[in-house]
Amino acid sequence: MTKFADLDLSPALLKAVNRMGFEEATPIQAKTIPLSKQGKDLIGQAQTGTGKTAAFGIPLIEKIDVKSPHVQGIIIAPTRELAIQVSEELYKIGMDARAKVLAVYGGSDIQRQIRSLKKGPHIIVGTPGRILDHIKRRTLKLNNVHTLILDEADEMLNMGFIDDIEAILETVPDERQTLLFSATMPAPIRRIAERFMKSPETVRIEAKEMTVPLIEQFFIKVPEREKFDVLSRLIDTQSPELAIVFGRTKRRVDELSNALTLRGYTAEGIHGDLSQAKRLSVLKKFKSGKVDVLVATDVAARGLDISGVTHVYNYDIPQDPESYVHRIGRTGRAGKEGMAITFVSPREMGYLRIVEQTTKKRMQPMRPPTWDEALEGQQRITMEKLDEAIKEGNLDEYKTVANELLMEHDDAVSIIAAALKVLTKEPDKTPVHITEERPLPAKKDQYHGGGNNRNRRGKSGQQPYKGNRNKSKPQRRSGRRP
Ligand code: ADP
Ligand code: MG
Repeated sequence: MTKFADLDLSPALLKAVNRMGFEEATPIQAKTIPLSKQGKDLIGQAQTGTGKTAAFGIPLIEKIDVKSPHVQGIIIAPTRELAIQVSEELYKIGMDARAKVLAVYGGSDIQRQIRSLKKGPHIIVGTPGRILDHIKRRTLKLNNVHTLILDEADEMLNMGFIDDIEAILETVPDERQTLLFSATMPAPIRRIAERFMKSPETVRIEAKEMTVPLIEQFFIKVPEREKFDVLSRLIDTQSPELAIVFGRTKRRVDELSNALTLRGYTAEGIHGDLSQAKRLSVLKKFKSGKVDVLVATDVAARGLDISGVTHVYNYDIPQDPESYVHRIGRTGRAGKEGMAITFVSPREMGYLRIVEQTTKKRMQPMRPPTWDEALEGQQRITMEKLDEAIKEGNLDEYKTVANELLMEHDDAVSIIAAALKVLTKEPDKTPVHITEERPLPAKKDQYHGGGNNRNRRGKSGQQPYKGNRNKSKPQRRSGRRP
């Protein structure tokens, strides 16, 4: 455990970190900050949500000469949302040091960006295309840059940004410090590192530490056509505070968010086809709790810092284990408890095994909740609301009518039951349309359906159903009442 005070930071940085509420450095921060401060080139690998931004941001801000009007640090990030997120975090880190940070990304007014660039920002965070654009227009000069950071490098590689990044690197002085951060480290990234970095040190936070122990991981074996009902009932029984549902395709995300809305949940979807403005507004609503369920594709959600997520539902099991780790990394952040539930169609059990081999953790089988359990979950929510109303008091205006009811029926239990019934949202059976997705191709060689499968089924019979555990904050769902 490393305290920030032990990392030899200047008072302005310590103050900022304190204000941000960081108590101690995360492992990737503890290991990379001292190396970075020595000026070393660095490759940092750690799971999403482990504080990589501050890991490069803190030493970067320490190096900025705020009296100079030149751009001294540049961070390249794969998407607009990430560029914005990183710039916001850097702004907070650099507030007391008075470092000026500017985000530049496509889809936003370039003239305004040009005006902002003239105001002498010290640090630029941007997407590759827009950074290049500014370089070509000569509205961004990188000849005073001493630190260059590639953030979410694996994602930039996936998105085909290599050429752009190379072009940017050519305009940055050679005698610079280069840092590369990524959740995963496929071979092509190592090659990039060899080409552009000077004998970099590698810091890797082991995959073992990747899955946060606070996250409970379950799987539900469910045929494709039953998935949506199971999802609805899970939400009803577990009443998540903030949930993310992951779907495999854009169409799936659209259909799921529509279907959830039809059934009375406040849900919205994000995927790559949506405009930047739309994605940002959905994210904002989700973060502020106006949307209870966010439906997302892997690409749209990757790397986004969304805190307070209590439940991750994998409507489709991800193709590759790394996506799984990314997905469940959305929950259980900052010491909060979280739960991840993965739907697996019977033919996809082989993929489950591969995910488990990667995370070194078994997922516990879970039985889908029944309609009765979903109803019970909803009743509990109503009960909690009544409980709260009683505690709040202020009921005098209702007591006359209450007495009338009592006189008429003479049976308090029936009256309360009726009130509960009227107030409870019964599990919704509104028909919805979800296009069936073909299951992933069977992985015969890695998985032999027989033994293991039986074993799992045997177990699932004993596994106590874990619904109803998250009963806190029912008020979040008040928006859902029909
Ligand atoms: P990554 O880039 O590794 O996915 P982020 O840098 O986006 O992770 O950090 C995830 C969240 O954790 C952010 O909200 C960030 O403010 C917070 N965070 C970072 N470092 C710490 C820390 N040392 N203590 C507590 N929270 C932290
Ligand atoms: Mg990051």
